[in-house]
Amino acid sequence: MVANSSDSTAPNSASQRWQKLVDLISSARMQYALQVSQTLSDSDYDALFCELLELETQYPILVTGDSPTQSVGGHRSELFEPVVHLEPMYSLDNAFNEGELKAWCERIGTSLEQEPQYLCELKIDGLAVDAVYRDGTLETLATRGDGATGEDVTLNSILIASIPKKLTGISVPKLLEVRGEVFYPLAVFDAINAEQTKMGKPLFANPRNAAAGALRQRVDKRERELEQAKGSKREAKVVQDLEAAVLRLSGLEFTVHGFGEHDSIVLTGARSQSEVYERLARWGLPVTSHAQVHASFAKVVEFINYFNEHRVEVTFDIDGVVVKVNDLANQVRLGFTSRAPRWAIAYKYPPEVVRTRLIDIEVSVGRTGRVTPYAVMEPVQVAGTTVSMATLHNPFEVSRKGVLIGDTVYLRKAGEIIPEVLGPVLEERTGSEIPFVMPEFCPECGNALGPETEGDKDIRCPNVQECPAQLRERLFHIGSRGALDIEGLGEKAAQALLVSGVLANEAELFDLTADKLLNCEFFVNSHQEHESVSINKAGEVLLAQLDRAKGQPLWRFLVALSIRHVGPTAAKKISRAFGSVESLQEATVEQLSNVDGVGGRIADSIVDFFDTDWRLDIISQWRRAGVSFADERTDTDPVSGPLTGITIVITGSIPDFTRDGAQDAIVALGATVSGSVSPKTDLVVVGDKAGSKAEKAQKLGVAITDAAGFHKLLSGDHQSVLPHL
Ligand SMILES: [Zn+2]
Repeated sequence: MVANSSDSTAPNSASQRWQKLVDLISSARMQYALQVSQTLSDSDYDALFCELLELETQYPILVTGDSPTQSVGGHRSELFEPVVHLEPMYSLDNAFNEGELKAWCERIGTSLEQEPQYLCELKIDGLAVDAVYRDGTLETLATRGDGATGEDVTLNSILIASIPKKLTGISVPKLLEVRGEVFYPLAVFDAINAEQTKMGKPLFANPRNAAAGALRQRVDKRERELEQAKGSKREAKVVQDLEAAVLRLSGLEFTVHGFGEHDSIVLTGARSQSEVYERLARWGLPVTSHAQVHASFAKVVEFINYFNEHRVEVTFDIDGVVVKVNDLANQVRLGFTSRAPRWAIAYKYPPEVVRTRLIDIEVSVGRTGRVTPYAVMEPVQVAGTTVSMATLHNPFEVSRKGVLIGDTVYLRKAGEIIPEVLGPVLEERTGSEIPFVMPEFCPECGNALGPETEGDKDIRCPNVQECPAQLRERLFHIGSRGALDIEGLGEKAAQALLVSGVLANEAELFDLTADKLLNCEFFVNSHQEHESVSINKAGEVLLAQLDRAKGQPLWRFLVALSIRHVGPTAAKKISRAFGSVESLQEATVEQLSNVDGVGGRIADSIVDFFDTDWRLDIISQWRRAGVSFADERTDTDPVSGPLTGITIVITGSIPDFTRDGAQDAIVALGATVSGSVSPKTDLVVVGDKAGSKAEKAQKLGVAITDAAGFHKLLSGDHQSVLPHL
């Protein structure tokens, strides 16, 4: 199998061939189970099965829970009794992009001579089933199979709480056949995989795979085994297996998305698909909660794009959106092709979990010296982007995931979320895979690596000042958006400045001139040997941006200095509290941790920073070059206001305000905001879910007010809130 040729879309010919193979193989299985004439020889069956596997490897997007490859074992001997569906279960045609969807909508519009209303519903990535109720009681539950005949999993359905065993409400039909999806919510799926890891068993690639495995468990067989094992040494193990099987089934959910044969006047009276759902729900059947009716192609696309971007907000895995013509009379007018309804289409999202090969595990050294292993993989399309690298965080994480170099691995990327290696595909192991060993020495400076303190999971290079990797990453970080936001100082520029020797370290950054840049190829216009040399656009941009950056506010410099644990949020709070580099340099750990939102860890790290000579040199050299380390407060704070000289602590949340927003509002009136209550505090504002600060204020006898009082302060009514001042 070739993993790197997998594709996130598929031609319609592949999609049709896939459906054909699924139906052929499923049908052969049924005939085998029925012990009627065998339509396929064993070797033909195997050949089709192999072709299906190959097709699914190339186009993972095609795989659904109905595929015979998704059932555990996948062999004919594992079969359940066949059940003939009262009405055949059709598959859906697929659209892999907006163009294909548009073409479908246009065909519909032409046939109906008007644009119809569309019902859009989330396409749950589960396993399609058919349930038959007689006199309101569940008679059979069967898998889709080849569409005409499925496998009887009624016995297992008893253990699935979300499948009603009896219909409730009024006018319950004598006969009702419904179709739906059996699936795992993501939280349950994660728990199952955590359990698999604990037991040293292979992970399920996705919830669909796990659901297919669970629904097709032979619980009855396990019960029989238990009878036989009673009193034997095996009993405990068999009990455990049985309990696990029962637990797996109980976590499955069920959603109905259609109906087959029935004798209900209630359903016959429905005019639209959405009305059908309402009526099915009244009988206690679970129907989709996300369905929406839209009147135009544009709105349908909006729905599709919304849920593509917000897939992580849905509690179950979706692989697309099913669009149906809502009006039932129109559905009848459009009818069916030989294998699919013309009135519905499945829009498929790019897959979020794919397989690829883990070529190597390399390490990178970050700006704070942390050495991070990362996966180098054969490039693969996942969730619409090409991925070839993913962080593995630390050596402990590598062994927890159990991946070896050379493994085929499951790779996940959901929307904007960074790609993550989930684990190895154990059945693909050949024995030639090798374990990752964390290097003992820094790949860039050769210093011995180790944890900073015992028990630390992170391994670091101790050569903080001079390690080329750390220096390069720090320099690049200075230009990043959260720091000084210098457009011309990207990764390549930082590398070029250091390698050419134009910069020895970050302290010299603001001393850069056009003359100096001439010695760095990266910033020089291409020229012949006899021509004079001039700096290029990138060089001009860098110099202009550096000049502008000199006036950036203090907090941006605090971020730029790569003080460990200090990000923009903490930096803003610290610079607001201390105002200048000088007073920050004098600050003690205690004073620093008194700032709201600054913990001991950050305080320690700041004191450490200002205790290091070469770091202080950076600050003084930058200052000599014209950096002002501007006190932010002079920009945003009025020199004085009605609350000048008053120290206020805010605890808990104030309705209509973010934490920072509430602080900013009173700082704008001249107040000083403190993070902790002391005898010097003038007022404590106690919002919702306030912690111990309110109690402390009471103990110290400090004035307290609530959200209403806070609003009074803002409206200028200080008297009623602070009468003693
Ligand atoms: Zn190093």
